[in-house]
Amino acid sequence: MLLDVLNISKTLSFIIRSISDNTSSLCWVFYLFTCTVAIYAQFGLRYFEEFFAYGDDDSLRAGCHSTLSCFILIFYHGLPSSSLDGAVLNPADNTNPHYIQRVIFDLTFFIWVGLILFNIITGLLVDGFGSLRESDAARIDLQKNECFVCGFTRTDYEDSPNLPDNDKGFEYHKDNEHDYWQYAYFCIYLNRKSKDDLTGVESYVWSMIQKKNTEWTPTRNSLAIQIKTESKVADEADSAIDPEALEKIGRDVKDLKKSFSALEKVIAHGKST
Ligand SMILES: [Zn+2]
Repeated sequence: MLLDVLNISKTLSFIIRSISDNTSSLCWVFYLFTCTVAIYAQFGLRYFEEFFAYGDDDSLRAGCHSTLSCFILIFYHGLPSSSLDGAVLNPADNTNPHYIQRVIFDLTFFIWVGLILFNIITGLLVDGFGSLRESDAARIDLQKNECFVCGFTRTDYEDSPNLPDNDKGFEYHKDNEHDYWQYAYFCIYLNRKSKDDLTGVESYVWSMIQKKNTEWTPTRNSLAIQIKTESKVADEADSAIDPEALEKIGRDVKDLKKSFSALEKVIAHGKST
């Protein structure tokens, strides 16, 4: 239960994920640590065996006298302090005949382990943490500024030329017209409903879901925009009629009326005779 906070706190979960996402890289760095310690244990035992000591303990049991014990000693005391001098090896002053060799031995260990390898680990964790924060920020931005159902971005929606006159804005569209929970509920409803009782529309949607086809969902469109678009098209079609053609049709109708009236007179005259 104490560790549940790792799931509750976003920052702590990012820390854990930055480690778990970089497990492979961290394992390779650990491998480098192991190789480094093995090499220094081998060389240390070969050239500086008399310097190895467990702190102030300089009794007969002090130090290490095999590659394995030197490996363990450096791993246990040398790595945490990133140094061999003082932690694993007794200090050597400049009167010691091995002084220069000790300087090189100690400094190379410090530079390789203390400066490079540990900073690689820090860099991996910081990079992982940073990329997680960036992806989280991108996800939040996507949730705020893009409709999950139709893919309309806030800018594209607000610039759409076919928005209805009483449009309530992108937030309303995203949270009400295209509430993704409603789509999720509908999918669950279809899943649970007897397939023999599905209506025509439900059968169509269910078949598309089975095929993992999302064409049944709107794409950069909505019912309100669709109605507005259709009404605009109808208005444009009405206004597109040629006035001269209308005038000609009117003249034709008048001519037809005259012909009919003349015909009626002929028929009436025929009946009277
Ligand atoms: Zn939408």
